[in-house]
Amino acid sequence: MGSGQVTDWQGKNVTVAGLGVSGVPAAKVLHGLGARVTVVNDGDDERARAQAEKLQALGIAVRLGDGDSLPDGTELIVTAPGWKPDKALFRAAEKADVPVWGDVELAWRLRDHGGRTPAPWLAVTGTNGKTTTVQMLASILKAAGLRTAAVGNIGVSLLDAVLGEETYDVLAVELSSYQLHWAPSLRAHSAAVLNLAPDHLDWHGSMEAYAADKGRIYEGNRIACVYNAADKATEDLVREADVEEGCWAIGFTLGTPAPSQLGVVDGILVDRAFVPNRQKNAQELAEVADIRPPAPHNIANALAAAALARAYGVPAAAVREGLRAFTPDAHRIAHVADLDGVAYVDDSKATNTHAAQASLASYESIVWIAGGLAKGATFDELVAGAAGRLRGVVLIGADRGLIRDALARHAPEVPVVDLDRTDTGAMLQAVQEAKRLARAGDTVLLAPACASMDMFVNYNQRGDAFAAAVRELAAR
Ligand code: ADP
Repeated sequence: MGSGQVTDWQGKNVTVAGLGVSGVPAAKVLHGLGARVTVVNDGDDERARAQAEKLQALGIAVRLGDGDSLPDGTELIVTAPGWKPDKALFRAAEKADVPVWGDVELAWRLRDHGGRTPAPWLAVTGTNGKTTTVQMLASILKAAGLRTAAVGNIGVSLLDAVLGEETYDVLAVELSSYQLHWAPSLRAHSAAVLNLAPDHLDWHGSMEAYAADKGRIYEGNRIACVYNAADKATEDLVREADVEEGCWAIGFTLGTPAPSQLGVVDGILVDRAFVPNRQKNAQELAEVADIRPPAPHNIANALAAAALARAYGVPAAAVREGLRAFTPDAHRIAHVADLDGVAYVDDSKATNTHAAQASLASYESIVWIAGGLAKGATFDELVAGAAGRLRGVVLIGADRGLIRDALARHAPEVPVVDLDRTDTGAMLQAVQEAKRLARAGDTVLLAPACASMDMFVNYNQRGDAFAAAVRELAAR
């Protein structure tokens, strides 16, 4: 099981680590290929037992409550992407010289299974903006008449995309840093790293390790490595990557593009990379007004998507059409309503400070609703950068004190309402307070910079609670 394709799975002893969203389909697929599969799982709860019974009925062995000992005879481990590299199971695997693949690696190795012509992958990673960019990319590729899907962390699972009935010309693939860590042989047609900010450092161990895993997305690229010209760390990753001869480094920028970049000139998205004679020529792709929402970070997402599509040879007209056809998923800078000249915007998906920073940079005068679970983050940089645009702040959630302290340090003039409650109903009060602080022309922005699980099931429910509160105020 070196780096090549595995053509004969018959009787291979494969251990699948984790009984979750990636493990169950992986176990079934491997079993279907004739492998002898054992699933190991740390948990031994009711859900795991029910899941295990179903797999056992198919003839797949399952060991619950023991995700750390390596089953005898294991020739390959296929792991859930979230399992930490320092787990005892992987240390044992290393000792025994057993390779470890993640779900993405498995899909990559199976992509030409059964004599299929594999679809090339256009891959996207980054701390924030992955889902949006991949969806924009798929929309552009569709507008060009290509059979494609947004896959990976979103939409269609990668295994389904490579093995299912549907065949594709090209895939728009979202990859997390965990998935990249476990995908050593992945070679994309072209790839983009949107941005790099500290995240998931407890998993990767350090910022360097996190960046290195993100950088794997560029390894072996054939046509283009797309980087963010405003984020030097992404460009450094391109420089360090070992790519195919002739592969281009293509930057995207919100400013005027240099040769080999895509950028913006007078509200027009311009390509100076995929044009003949880039020193002299440029190609208009679309207008900023074609992008929803036309916030700076989202224009960056659109440029990255356009760069990957252009690397694949998509005509300019399809970029415009695809961007126009795209609508963002819920809770990502979603405009909920206007009340008394104040816009109410739900960016509940801004679950970390880097995302909230982009969100806050999108509006001039803001009443900011923030707070929740900080996950170890600090807020000084975020608050200092946004201070000049804050009309007021309403704080909710468990770790709101951290934001309150940062506001006291960097924005002492800004009025702050500190809601000392973490029940779900607090959102209505938060929106009421925000309405009281706002003046015509302002934006009330839910961009919490924190996770939601202290008060809500997830960020969806948090955003829904915000929208419901806005509607309730509108009806009064
Ligand atoms: P991901 O899939 O990486 O989590 P999403 O597209 O779902 O990214 O966007 C998540 C949040 O990140 C959005 O709600 C928005 O606040 C923020 N965001 C989106 N694109 C960017 C970007 N390019 N830079 C910074 N923040 C962004």
